[in-house]
Amino acid sequence: MTAVVPPPDTHQFKLGSCTITVVKDGANILENPWEIFGSNQAPETVQKLLAQNFLPTEKLVNSYAPAIIDTGADVIVVDTGFGAAGRARGLGRFREGLKAVGYTPEQVTVVALTHLHGDHISGLMEDGAPAFPNARYATGEIEYAFWTDKAREGTPAEGGHKAVLANVVPFAEKMTFLKEGDEIVSGMTAMLAPGHTPGHLVFHLESDGKQLVMTGDTANHYILSLGRPDWEVRFDADKAQAIKTRRRVFDLIATDRIPFLGFHMPFPAVGFVEKQPEGFRYVPKTYQFDL
Ligand SMILES: [Zn+2]
Repeated sequence: MTAVVPPPDTHQFKLGSCTITVVKDGANILENPWEIFGSNQAPETVQKLLAQNFLPTEKLVNSYAPAIIDTGADVIVVDTGFGAAGRARGLGRFREGLKAVGYTPEQVTVVALTHLHGDHISGLMEDGAPAFPNARYATGEIEYAFWTDKAREGTPAEGGHKAVLANVVPFAEKMTFLKEGDEIVSGMTAMLAPGHTPGHLVFHLESDGKQLVMTGDTANHYILSLGRPDWEVRFDADKAQAIKTRRRVFDLIATDRIPFLGFHMPFPAVGFVEKQPEGFRYVPKTYQFDL
């Protein structure tokens, strides 16, 4: 008997007149959570918070959630996942998910990138050719300038620099470089949310009075990062700025009770936050969008 590999998890919901599809690009296991989240805390403090939340203390699962926003006029991909580069590790399944829900890569009109890390950009190319041949592209002006700068050579950002040269620069002529408040399509705007990377963006979508914020990598663990936004995160380039941004973005989302899609939140990666003394309580989406 041949093993049957089921299609990747996909999850669809309506937001105003948009249809949103979240695809699980994949997930992987990371060792020693305390070395990543709360890297400036005692390891026992991090482990205690995990245990209190019924989570294993020695390892964590990190998942990846690119999304498709169908406005009726546009089919927008928000972050691409790992693409072919991740497939040997069971990642890079976004393209398969996109097809499984009935889209073709040719139908994608816009690819919007919150930032230019590998898990967000590696799916831009497929077999050396554009993965979404008819799309235009949008990313942050500051983000693009940082990663394409030759000054990254010989620094810890050199690997990222090379990945951007290979995967993003080929699309420069079709790319819009976004500044604070710039519109990607009607109803979808970019907001600067730096810290994780120098020009990291979040996207705000509004459709028929309904809102969704795509927070990218502003917070990357639903307990360790949302619950303790002031803890340092190893993956954040500027840790102090990332903390400030995390506070600001999720304060706004909590105050206005806006749902958000967080790229590394547990699938389907959509939820709400409530403000608490030490941080935010994550409330995953259930049927709020079905009524
Ligand atoms: Zn990421």
